[in-house]
Amino acid sequence: MNTVTAEDLRRLRRIHQQLADLNDRMARGPRQVAAGQVAVTKTEQEVATLKENWKKMRMQSDDQQVQLKQRESKIADLDRKLNECKTNTEFKLLKDQIAAERQANAVLEDEILDKMERLDELQAEIKRAEQRQVKAHEEFDKARQRVEQEQGKLQDEVARVTRELDDAEKNLPPDFKAEYRRLVRSHGPEGLAPVEGETCGGCHTVLSAQTMNELYMSRIVYCKSCGCVLYLAEDRVHRSSEPD
Ligand SMILES: [Zn+2]
Repeated sequence: MNTVTAEDLRRLRRIHQQLADLNDRMARGPRQVAAGQVAVTKTEQEVATLKENWKKMRMQSDDQQVQLKQRESKIADLDRKLNECKTNTEFKLLKDQIAAERQANAVLEDEILDKMERLDELQAEIKRAEQRQVKAHEEFDKARQRVEQEQGKLQDEVARVTRELDDAEKNLPPDFKAEYRRLVRSHGPEGLAPVEGETCGGCHTVLSAQTMNELYMSRIVYCKSCGCVLYLAEDRVHRSSEPD
């Protein structure tokens, strides 16, 4: 009849740990690529928003330039009327109107100048955002290539470790195998726990003297608290072969 030694269980735990680590690394790669894609999209949106802002401001500025020209020709008209006017009252009225128009134009000119400055700033911001976009693209491409290469290697490694697992599981007693499979399916490598001192390495519950004895007798023992299969560390196993 097949038995399960502490060495078998240690080996199984190590293999399951390796597989879990490999699976973690395989999952990490695509997450890094996805994060790179998010960064690219974000910089693209930044550039698009800045360009849109520039366009809107440019249109407002153009409109104000047109207004300014209209007002200037209006002032020219009023100036002409001023030269032709006949009465003092009319003269004063025109003078006031011209002053008000000039005042309004001065405000408009300031606004146009502000917009020109802002447009220059926006141009510089667009340039910086475009540089960030190029950089994000480069980093995304690099990450994608690196992950592609890594995934191939990791798949080979998983295949190798899986073959090792098949070999390690080959001679397990059938009644143990079912329970063992259930444990690793739900807990991964933690389904197998080393004994630490006199406690379960999985849940740290203190093990009874009887449980410890059974372990020293190389029986298959489950932690009564967390249910995982227990095994002794390498340097403690020799006692199992000693007579009681
Ligand atoms: Zn436990």
